[in-house]
Amino acid sequence: MIPISKVELGEDEEKLVLEVLRSGRLTQGPMVEQLEQEFRAWSGCDHVVAVNNGTTALVAALQALDIGPGDEVVTSPFSFVATLNAILEAGATAVFADVTDDFTIDPASVAEQLTARTRAVLPVHLYGQAADLPALSTLAARRDLAVVEDAAQAHGAVVDGRRAGSYGVGCFSLYATKNITSGEGGLVSTNDPALADRLRLLRNQGMRARYQYEIPGHNYRMTELQAAVALPQVARLAERTERRRLHASLYSQRLADVPGLAVPREEPGRRHVWHQYTVRVTGDARLDRDGLAAALGAAGVGTGVYYPRLMHDYPSYTGHPQVRVSSTPRAAACAREVLSLPVHPWLTEAELDHVVTTVRTVLNA
Ligand SMILES: *Cc1c(COP(=O)(O)O)cnc(C)c1O
Repeated sequence: MIPISKVELGEDEEKLVLEVLRSGRLTQGPMVEQLEQEFRAWSGCDHVVAVNNGTTALVAALQALDIGPGDEVVTSPFSFVATLNAILEAGATAVFADVTDDFTIDPASVAEQLTARTRAVLPVHLYGQAADLPALSTLAARRDLAVVEDAAQAHGAVVDGRRAGSYGVGCFSLYATKNITSGEGGLVSTNDPALADRLRLLRNQGMRARYQYEIPGHNYRMTELQAAVALPQVARLAERTERRRLHASLYSQRLADVPGLAVPREEPGRRHVWHQYTVRVTGDARLDRDGLAAALGAAGVGTGVYYPRLMHDYPSYTGHPQVRVSSTPRAAACAREVLSLPVHPWLTEAELDHVVTTVRTVLNA
C-alpha cells in the first residue's frame, strides 16, 4: 500500500532526543528556545512561541488577542474540526464564510458575514496553499479585525513574497502528519511584540517570573523532546517542500485531461507547499469520489478525504450557542468531491507512476 502520508525521522532527530534524555531536562528549556529561533529566522516573523499542539496555537492566539465570549470569528467551514473547537474553547462564536475554488475562504463571502461583533477573520491555508491573505488583510484593516491564520498545513507557503503566518498571527501544527512534525506540537508566529509577550504568559500559567502571576494563564508548554524531534526538520523543510512540489506538478501534468477529475491549481502569486494533493471528482467521472477511493485502495493506493463533511455539520454542534451556521454551498460541494492522493516527500517515481496509471485505468481515461 502506498501510504497517504509518511514520517521518516533520522539520525539528527535521534541525536537531539538522546541529548535531551541525557540532560535530564524534559520540560520547556533550551531546545524549545532553539526551535523557536530557527523557525523565527526561517519564517521571517519577529516572534515565534512554541506550544504543545496546533489547536492550542489557535486558542492561545485568540486569547492573546482578547477574543472571547460575545465576539465573532469568521472562518471556513471546510477545515479540520480543530479550527472550530479552538474558537469555541476561546469562548467566541464561530461564523462561516464560503470558500472559493482554491479550497480557502472567499474574502467576498467573509465581507457578507461581518457584524458589529466580528473581531477576527480566521482563514485556513488548506492543503498547504495560503488563503487570499492580501485581500483578507485589506478587509481586516478596514474593519479593524485581527487576522488569525490557521497555518497548520502550510509551513513555508508564500503569498506575494511573504510567508503565510506573517500576515496575521500564524498558527502552525507539528502533528504527526504535518510538513514538520514532533508527534504533537504547535508554533505561533507574530510581528507584534506585545502579543508575543502575552502568548508567553498565557503558555506558562500567566507567570512573568516564578509565582508572579500577571494574567490567568494555562499550561500550553512544549516539551524538550518535542522540540528535539522538530528542530532538524526546519532546516530540511525547503528540500522536502521541493519534493512535494515536484510530485504535485507531475500529478497535474499527467492527470489534467482525465474526464471528471479536476486537478488542484496553484493560484498566481501563491506558493503551495502541498501538504495534500487534492483532486475533485465531479459528476462527469465514471466513479464517484468514494467509488474512486475504494478502487484506488484495492489497487494499493492510499487516499484521504479531507474532509467528508463541513466541520460544524455534526450533531454535537447543532444548535450550539456559539455556532452560527450559514449557507456555504461551495464548501459543501468540496466535502462531497475532494480526494487526496499521496504527495509526501518520500514517494518514489515508481509509486507516483502507479498512482497515475491506476487513477487513469479505473476512470477509463
Ligand atoms: C492539524 C490541524 C489543526 C490542529 O493541529 P493539532 O496539532 O492536531 O492540534 C488545526 N487546523 C488544521 C487545518 C489542521 O490540519
